[in-house]
Amino acid sequence: MSTDHQHQHTHGGHSHRAGAHDYRVPELPEAVDIFDTTLRDGSQQEGLSLTVDDKLRVAEQLDHLGVAYIEGGWPGANPKDDEFFRRAPAELKLGTSTLVAFGSTRRAGVRADDDTVLRKLVDAGTSVVCIVAKSWDRHVTDALRTTLDEAVAMVSDSVAHLREHGKRVFLDAEHFFDGYRGNPDFAIRVLEAAELAGAEALVLCDTNGGSLPDDIGEAVAGVRARTGASLGIHCHNDTGCAVANSLVAVQAGVTQVQGCVNGYGERAGNADLSAAIPDLSLKLRVRTIPADRLERLAPVAHHIAELVNIAPNPQQPYVGASVFAHKGGLHASAIARRADLYEHIPPSLVGNGTRVVVSEMAGRSTLAMKAAELDLELDGEVVGRVLDELKRLEHEGYHYEVADGSLELLLRRAAGWEPDYFQVESFRVITDHDGGDSGPAPEAQGAEGPGEGRDDRVTTEATVKVHVRGTRTVATAEGNGPVNALDAALREAIGPHYPALSGVHLTDYRVRVLDTGRGTGAVTRVLVDTSDGERTWTTIGVSENIIEASWQALYDSIVYALLRTGA
Ligand SMILES: [Zn+2]
Repeated sequence: MSTDHQHQHTHGGHSHRAGAHDYRVPELPEAVDIFDTTLRDGSQQEGLSLTVDDKLRVAEQLDHLGVAYIEGGWPGANPKDDEFFRRAPAELKLGTSTLVAFGSTRRAGVRADDDTVLRKLVDAGTSVVCIVAKSWDRHVTDALRTTLDEAVAMVSDSVAHLREHGKRVFLDAEHFFDGYRGNPDFAIRVLEAAELAGAEALVLCDTNGGSLPDDIGEAVAGVRARTGASLGIHCHNDTGCAVANSLVAVQAGVTQVQGCVNGYGERAGNADLSAAIPDLSLKLRVRTIPADRLERLAPVAHHIAELVNIAPNPQQPYVGASVFAHKGGLHASAIARRADLYEHIPPSLVGNGTRVVVSEMAGRSTLAMKAAELDLELDGEVVGRVLDELKRLEHEGYHYEVADGSLELLLRRAAGWEPDYFQVESFRVITDHDGGDSGPAPEAQGAEGPGEGRDDRVTTEATVKVHVRGTRTVATAEGNGPVNALDAALREAIGPHYPALSGVHLTDYRVRVLDTGRGTGAVTRVLVDTSDGERTWTTIGVSENIIEASWQALYDSIVYALLRTGA
């Protein structure tokens, strides 16, 4: 079986000892196929909703990364997935990945030829299909309410039917590990039926995600003793072990690893491929995606986070913005000399980078390193001046550690750079509260009152006056709040001169009121996150006036964007 796999899974390259485990870990495969299910299982995550266009763009990113398989959805389950598979052949130009349609076995008591789920799967037009089957006996008897024999027949008939229609078939053995624990004979019967009918890979699923690495290793070894079929692993992260479980499965002989970039998925998520891929490639030396594409990992992970509109986790292993960040003078200066003493891999291998975190705690060497990271030449005297400036600003409430964009602008200015993209003459923000027809709204005394009356309307309008390349422009725009309105007005004014700004947008806005304890009242710190689809940067503003603080952060964000786009 498995004649046209993407990789050849020869066993016997390395010999690994089982160590403390009581199962044998015989050989590592040379390569595994990476199977991403972000568009199917990953979309089950709360708050994650993708349009068909989003799905197409996520698939492009996964192909760019070079995963072997992209599970696109369940044709027939909803109109969106139907449309995705209808549009994919014309609109998706896949170079490395193979698109997979997901479905289930035929229903109980229905002939495969008459089954609508199978028909939709065939009609989806993909060369590979993945079907889910029950492999936990209790799910068959208690949930499906049919016999174990019928459940096995459902698997055989469905795989055979799909093979007759020329499909390559993967079988997702649902709840496999729970099933194997309770009734291993039935769980194995399901696998054998699929293999016999021509399934190419049997994917063992930890559907409830409750297993620990030893459970997985033992079960996979047990299955391997009874079948020579190609196996896959599909783990959920409910014990926090999805990646570890996937690695153990590979060590026990599995050659297909399913999961989602960024670990998306319902509950605690699916196995995070952004960690599993480098763990396998760099630590276990098992081929996953093409070796020269590993450096695309962090950019693709961030791009996909952008597409699914979920803020990336800075502490996500390998790809997070903080995972190669270093803070503190002594440590940071030592890194400059011997990075390998402080970093488990060179971050560039996965497309990430060492980042020096600069704050008032920083010493001269940290700041000098940060400047070097930005290719800036700062002499000793300038470094000293910047350090003093930094300490003064941090005392006022700035916090450069979390505002990489503003810090870079500060350092560039210190090195003599003067941005001349545009000059601000003035800006103004007006917030109108309209009580509507429902009578006076007593809570709406101040312009910032939330306005609880049903007909209340709060509109914010901003006007900015700027000079761009010798031209004075006045622009006015509305927004759902002051930052939004100012952003819109500024773009209105300078956008025509800088078309690249259309690909740049604010992704987050955070306000914190700081009690400086200096008796002068509270100051407001505003942080703005901005993204151009590939990178996100944070800028900061601090003032006693929230609008002024917001403007500072917004101004830096736009200047930084123009700097990045090389305007
Ligand atoms: Zn799943």
